[in-house]
Amino acid sequence: MSNLLEGKTALILGVANKWSLAWAIAQAFRREGASLILTYQGERLKKTVEELAAELGASRVLECDVTRDEDLARLSELGRLDAVVHSIAFANREDLDRPFVETSRAGFALALEVSAYSLVAVARAAAPLMSEGGAMITLTYLGSSRVLTNYNVMGVAKASLEAAVRYLASELGPRKIRVNAISAGPVKTASARGIKDFSKILGAVAERAPFRRNTDPAEVADAAVFLASDLGRGVTGDVMFVDAGFHIMGL
Ligand code: NAP
Repeated sequence: MSNLLEGKTALILGVANKWSLAWAIAQAFRREGASLILTYQGERLKKTVEELAAELGASRVLECDVTRDEDLARLSELGRLDAVVHSIAFANREDLDRPFVETSRAGFALALEVSAYSLVAVARAAAPLMSEGGAMITLTYLGSSRVLTNYNVMGVAKASLEAAVRYLASELGPRKIRVNAISAGPVKTASARGIKDFSKILGAVAERAPFRRNTDPAEVADAAVFLASDLGRGVTGDVMFVDAGFHIMGL
Protein backbone atom coordinates (compact mmCIF):
# COMPACT_ATOMS: atom_id res chain seq x y z
CA MET A 1 0.00 0.00 0.00
CA SER A 2 1.30 3.44 -0.87
CA ASN A 3 -1.77 5.43 0.22
CA LEU A 4 -2.26 7.14 -3.13
CA LEU A 5 -5.97 7.63 -2.31
CA GLU A 6 -5.69 8.32 1.43
CA GLY A 7 -8.43 10.69 2.57
CA LYS A 8 -10.44 10.26 -0.63
CA THR A 9 -13.98 8.90 -0.93
CA ALA A 10 -14.88 6.93 -4.06
CA LEU A 11 -18.30 5.96 -5.37
CA ILE A 12 -18.05 2.74 -7.39
CA LEU A 13 -20.94 1.63 -9.60
CA GLY A 14 -20.91 -1.78 -11.27
CA VAL A 15 -19.75 -4.40 -8.77
CA ALA A 16 -21.87 -7.49 -9.51
CA ASN A 17 -19.50 -10.21 -8.27
CA LYS A 18 -15.80 -11.06 -7.74
CA TRP A 19 -15.19 -11.14 -11.49
CA SER A 20 -16.42 -7.59 -12.09
CA LEU A 21 -13.80 -5.06 -13.20
CA ALA A 22 -15.40 -2.73 -10.63
CA TRP A 23 -14.50 -5.23 -7.89
CA ALA A 24 -10.82 -5.23 -8.92
CA ILE A 25 -10.95 -1.42 -8.86
CA ALA A 26 -12.66 -1.36 -5.44
CA GLN A 27 -9.92 -3.62 -4.03
CA ALA A 28 -7.14 -1.43 -5.43
CA PHE A 29 -8.80 1.76 -4.20
CA ARG A 30 -9.12 0.27 -0.72
CA ARG A 31 -5.48 -0.86 -0.79
CA GLU A 32 -4.56 2.78 -1.50
CA GLY A 33 -6.57 4.04 1.46
CA ALA A 34 -9.81 5.27 -0.17
CA SER A 35 -13.11 4.96 1.62
CA LEU A 36 -15.68 3.29 -0.58
CA ILE A 37 -19.35 3.59 -1.43
CA LEU A 38 -20.67 0.75 -3.61
CA THR A 39 -23.94 0.42 -5.50
CA TYR A 40 -25.92 -2.58 -6.71
CA GLN A 41 -28.51 -2.71 -9.45
CA GLY A 42 -31.44 -4.50 -7.83
CA GLU A 43 -32.59 -6.81 -5.00
CA ARG A 44 -31.08 -9.79 -6.85
CA LEU A 45 -27.55 -8.49 -6.23
CA LYS A 46 -28.09 -6.79 -2.87
CA LYS A 47 -26.77 -9.60 -0.66
CA THR A 48 -23.72 -10.36 -2.83
CA VAL A 49 -22.68 -6.73 -3.08
CA GLU A 50 -23.28 -6.13 0.64
CA GLU A 51 -21.03 -9.09 1.46
CA LEU A 52 -18.32 -7.85 -0.92
CA ALA A 53 -18.63 -4.33 0.47
CA ALA A 54 -18.19 -5.67 4.02
CA GLU A 55 -14.97 -7.42 2.93
CA LEU A 56 -13.51 -4.02 2.04
CA GLY A 57 -15.10 -2.11 4.94
CA ALA A 58 -17.11 0.07 2.53
CA SER A 59 -18.81 2.91 4.36
CA ARG A 60 -22.06 2.60 2.42
CA VAL A 61 -23.91 0.35 -0.02
CA LEU A 62 -26.96 1.59 -1.90
CA GLU A 63 -29.21 0.55 -4.73
CA CYS A 64 -28.71 2.32 -8.06
CA ASP A 65 -30.36 1.14 -11.24
CA VAL A 66 -29.18 3.82 -13.68
CA THR A 67 -32.44 3.64 -15.63
CA ARG A 68 -34.34 4.94 -12.56
CA ASP A 69 -34.29 8.66 -11.82
CA GLU A 70 -35.16 8.12 -8.14
CA ASP A 71 -32.04 5.95 -7.72
CA LEU A 72 -29.87 8.55 -9.47
CA ALA A 73 -31.33 11.27 -7.25
CA ARG A 74 -30.21 9.29 -4.19
CA LEU A 75 -26.58 9.61 -5.39
CA SER A 76 -26.76 13.38 -5.06
CA GLU A 77 -27.31 12.99 -1.29
CA LEU A 78 -24.08 11.08 -0.65
CA GLY A 79 -21.89 13.87 0.70
CA ARG A 80 -18.41 14.78 -0.47
CA LEU A 81 -16.89 12.59 -3.20
CA ASP A 82 -13.42 12.60 -4.74
CA ALA A 83 -13.80 9.83 -7.32
CA VAL A 84 -16.55 8.08 -9.24
CA VAL A 85 -16.05 4.82 -11.10
CA HIS A 86 -18.74 4.05 -13.69
CA SER A 87 -18.38 0.39 -14.67
CA ILE A 88 -21.77 -0.32 -16.18
CA ALA A 89 -23.00 -1.61 -19.52
CA PHE A 90 -25.92 -3.60 -20.85
CA ALA A 91 -27.32 -4.76 -24.19
CA ASN A 92 -29.95 -7.37 -24.94
CA ARG A 93 -28.33 -10.71 -25.61
CA GLU A 94 -30.08 -11.05 -28.98
CA ASP A 95 -28.43 -7.82 -30.13
CA LEU A 96 -25.01 -9.40 -29.46
CA ASP A 97 -26.01 -12.56 -31.24
CA ARG A 98 -27.44 -11.54 -34.61
CA PRO A 99 -26.31 -9.25 -37.45
CA PHE A 100 -25.90 -5.62 -36.32
CA VAL A 101 -28.26 -4.49 -39.07
CA GLU A 102 -31.06 -6.36 -37.24
CA THR A 103 -30.69 -4.24 -34.06
CA SER A 104 -34.14 -3.09 -32.93
CA ARG A 105 -35.00 0.50 -32.05
CA ALA A 106 -35.73 -0.54 -28.46
CA GLY A 107 -32.53 -2.61 -28.15
CA PHE A 108 -30.43 0.28 -29.51
CA ALA A 109 -32.05 2.76 -27.11
CA LEU A 110 -31.62 0.48 -24.10
CA ALA A 111 -27.93 -0.24 -24.81
CA LEU A 112 -27.17 3.46 -25.20
CA GLU A 113 -29.21 4.47 -22.17
CA VAL A 114 -27.57 2.03 -19.76
CA SER A 115 -24.06 2.05 -21.22
CA ALA A 116 -23.55 5.69 -22.27
CA TYR A 117 -26.27 8.09 -21.08
CA SER A 118 -25.85 6.75 -17.55
CA LEU A 119 -22.40 8.36 -17.36
CA VAL A 120 -23.97 11.75 -18.05
CA ALA A 121 -26.69 11.18 -15.45
CA VAL A 122 -24.20 9.96 -12.82
CA ALA A 123 -21.87 12.89 -13.57
CA ARG A 124 -24.77 15.33 -13.10
CA ALA A 125 -25.55 13.85 -9.68
CA ALA A 126 -21.93 13.50 -8.54
CA ALA A 127 -20.26 16.69 -9.80
CA PRO A 128 -21.84 18.97 -7.14
CA LEU A 129 -20.44 16.59 -4.47
CA MET A 130 -16.88 17.01 -5.79
CA SER A 131 -16.43 20.33 -4.06
CA GLU A 132 -12.63 19.98 -4.00
CA GLY A 133 -12.46 18.66 -7.57
CA GLY A 134 -12.20 14.97 -8.39
CA ALA A 135 -11.98 12.23 -10.97
CA MET A 136 -14.63 10.34 -12.91
CA ILE A 137 -13.57 7.12 -14.61
CA THR A 138 -15.57 4.92 -16.95
CA LEU A 139 -14.80 1.62 -18.67
CA THR A 140 -14.81 1.28 -22.43
CA TYR A 141 -13.66 -1.17 -25.10
CA LEU A 142 -11.90 -1.15 -28.48
CA GLY A 143 -15.24 -2.03 -30.13
CA SER A 144 -16.00 1.72 -29.98
CA SER A 145 -13.67 2.41 -32.89
CA ARG A 146 -13.00 -0.99 -34.51
CA VAL A 147 -15.37 -3.68 -35.64
CA LEU A 148 -15.22 -6.70 -33.35
CA THR A 149 -17.44 -9.60 -34.30
CA ASN A 150 -20.69 -9.68 -32.28
CA TYR A 151 -19.88 -6.54 -30.24
CA ASN A 152 -22.47 -4.77 -32.42
CA VAL A 153 -24.67 -2.21 -30.64
CA MET A 154 -22.31 -2.22 -27.67
CA GLY A 155 -19.63 -0.78 -29.98
CA VAL A 156 -21.97 2.08 -30.85
CA ALA A 157 -22.72 2.59 -27.14
CA LYS A 158 -19.00 2.70 -26.31
CA ALA A 159 -18.37 5.25 -29.11
CA SER A 160 -21.09 7.39 -27.53
CA LEU A 161 -19.64 6.84 -24.05
CA GLU A 162 -16.17 8.00 -25.20
CA ALA A 163 -17.66 11.12 -26.81
CA ALA A 164 -19.55 11.79 -23.55
CA VAL A 165 -16.22 11.55 -21.68
CA ARG A 166 -14.83 14.36 -23.85
CA TYR A 167 -17.87 16.66 -23.48
CA LEU A 168 -18.02 16.08 -19.72
CA ALA A 169 -14.27 16.64 -19.38
CA SER A 170 -14.60 19.94 -21.21
CA GLU A 171 -17.51 21.16 -19.07
CA LEU A 172 -16.26 19.93 -15.70
CA GLY A 173 -12.58 20.83 -16.17
CA PRO A 174 -13.02 24.38 -14.82
CA ARG A 175 -14.41 22.77 -11.62
CA LYS A 176 -11.22 20.66 -11.34
CA ILE A 177 -13.15 17.48 -12.16
CA ARG A 178 -11.32 15.18 -14.56
CA VAL A 179 -13.21 12.65 -16.70
CA ASN A 180 -11.44 9.74 -18.37
CA ALA A 181 -12.11 6.28 -19.76
CA ILE A 182 -10.04 3.14 -19.47
CA SER A 183 -10.27 0.91 -22.53
CA ALA A 184 -9.74 -2.52 -21.02
CA GLY A 185 -8.72 -5.61 -22.93
CA PRO A 186 -11.24 -8.46 -22.86
CA VAL A 187 -11.71 -10.07 -19.44
CA LYS A 188 -14.00 -13.00 -18.63
CA THR A 189 -16.81 -11.37 -16.62
CA ALA A 190 -20.58 -11.91 -16.48
CA SER A 191 -21.15 -9.15 -19.07
CA ALA A 192 -18.46 -10.48 -21.39
CA ARG A 193 -20.08 -13.92 -21.36
CA GLY A 194 -23.07 -12.31 -23.09
CA ILE A 195 -20.96 -11.74 -26.20
CA LYS A 196 -21.17 -14.66 -28.59
CA ASP A 197 -17.80 -16.40 -29.17
CA PHE A 198 -16.09 -14.23 -26.54
CA SER A 199 -13.49 -16.95 -25.95
CA LYS A 200 -12.33 -16.50 -29.57
CA ILE A 201 -11.61 -12.83 -28.83
CA LEU A 202 -9.59 -13.85 -25.75
CA GLY A 203 -7.65 -16.32 -27.88
CA ALA A 204 -6.90 -13.77 -30.62
CA VAL A 205 -5.61 -11.26 -28.07
CA ALA A 206 -3.37 -13.83 -26.36
CA GLU A 207 -1.94 -14.73 -29.75
CA ARG A 208 -1.41 -11.23 -31.20
CA ALA A 209 -1.10 -8.63 -28.41
CA PRO A 210 2.42 -7.32 -27.74
CA PHE A 211 2.34 -8.99 -24.31
CA ARG A 212 1.07 -12.31 -25.87
CA ARG A 213 -1.46 -12.64 -23.07
CA ASN A 214 -4.77 -11.23 -21.93
CA THR A 215 -5.42 -8.33 -19.57
CA ASP A 216 -5.30 -8.86 -15.82
CA PRO A 217 -8.16 -6.97 -14.05
CA ALA A 218 -5.58 -5.79 -11.49
CA GLU A 219 -3.85 -3.87 -14.31
CA VAL A 220 -7.10 -2.07 -15.12
CA ALA A 221 -7.56 -1.35 -11.41
CA ASP A 222 -4.08 0.16 -11.02
CA ALA A 223 -4.70 2.43 -14.03
CA ALA A 224 -7.90 3.57 -12.30
CA VAL A 225 -5.87 4.30 -9.14
CA PHE A 226 -3.53 6.48 -11.23
CA LEU A 227 -6.44 8.38 -12.80
CA ALA A 228 -8.22 8.86 -9.45
CA SER A 229 -5.06 9.94 -7.61
CA ASP A 230 -3.12 13.17 -7.80
CA LEU A 231 -0.67 11.38 -10.10
CA GLY A 232 -3.32 11.69 -12.81
CA ARG A 233 -3.89 15.40 -12.22
CA GLY A 234 -2.75 16.36 -15.74
CA VAL A 235 -5.04 13.96 -17.60
CA THR A 236 -8.63 14.54 -18.70
CA GLY A 237 -10.91 13.63 -21.59
CA ASP A 238 -8.66 10.70 -22.42
CA VAL A 239 -9.14 7.04 -23.30
CA MET A 240 -6.32 5.07 -21.70
CA PHE A 241 -5.76 1.60 -23.13
CA VAL A 242 -4.99 -1.16 -20.65
CA ASP A 243 -5.19 -4.08 -23.04
CA ALA A 244 -1.78 -5.80 -23.24
CA GLY A 245 -1.15 -3.44 -26.18
CA PHE A 246 -3.62 -5.15 -28.51
CA HIS A 247 -5.07 -1.88 -29.88
CA ILE A 248 -1.84 -0.89 -31.65
CA MET A 249 -1.69 -4.02 -33.78
CA GLY A 250 -2.46 -4.23 -37.49
CA LEU A 251 -1.69 -7.37 -39.39
P1 NAP B 1 -19.96 -7.03 -14.98
O1 NAP B 1 -19.28 -7.57 -13.80
O2 NAP B 1 -21.15 -7.78 -15.50
O3 NAP B 1 -20.34 -5.51 -14.70
C1 NAP B 1 -21.34 -4.82 -15.41
C2 NAP B 1 -22.16 -4.10 -14.39
O4 NAP B 1 -23.16 -3.28 -15.00
C3 NAP B 1 -22.90 -5.09 -13.48
O5 NAP B 1 -22.69 -4.73 -12.14
C4 NAP B 1 -24.34 -4.85 -13.90
O6 NAP B 1 -25.28 -5.19 -12.92
C5 NAP B 1 -24.29 -3.38 -14.17
N1 NAP B 1 -25.52 -2.88 -14.80
C6 NAP B 1 -26.14 -3.33 -15.92
N2 NAP B 1 -27.29 -2.66 -16.09
C7 NAP B 1 -27.38 -1.75 -15.06
C8 NAP B 1 -28.33 -0.78 -14.67
N3 NAP B 1 -29.45 -0.55 -15.37
N4 NAP B 1 -28.08 -0.04 -13.56
C9 NAP B 1 -26.98 -0.25 -12.82
N5 NAP B 1 -26.05 -1.17 -13.12
C10 NAP B 1 -26.25 -1.91 -14.24
O7 NAP B 1 -18.96 -6.92 -16.25
P2 NAP B 1 -17.62 -6.09 -16.46
O8 NAP B 1 -16.96 -6.75 -17.62
O9 NAP B 1 -16.89 -5.90 -15.19
O10 NAP B 1 -18.17 -4.70 -17.01
C11 NAP B 1 -17.87 -3.46 -16.41
C12 NAP B 1 -17.59 -2.41 -17.48
O11 NAP B 1 -16.36 -2.74 -18.13
C13 NAP B 1 -18.64 -2.32 -18.58
O12 NAP B 1 -18.82 -0.98 -18.97
C14 NAP B 1 -17.99 -3.10 -19.70
O13 NAP B 1 -18.49 -2.75 -20.98
C15 NAP B 1 -16.56 -2.66 -19.52
N6 NAP B 1 -15.55 -3.47 -20.20
C16 NAP B 1 -15.51 -4.82 -20.00
C17 NAP B 1 -14.57 -5.57 -20.68
C18 NAP B 1 -14.53 -7.07 -20.52
O14 NAP B 1 -13.97 -7.74 -21.39
N7 NAP B 1 -15.07 -7.63 -19.46
C19 NAP B 1 -13.65 -4.96 -21.54
C20 NAP B 1 -13.70 -3.58 -21.70
C21 NAP B 1 -14.67 -2.84 -21.02
P3 NAP B 1 -26.12 -6.57 -13.16
O15 NAP B 1 -25.15 -7.67 -13.07
O16 NAP B 1 -27.13 -6.53 -12.08
O17 NAP B 1 -26.74 -6.46 -14.53
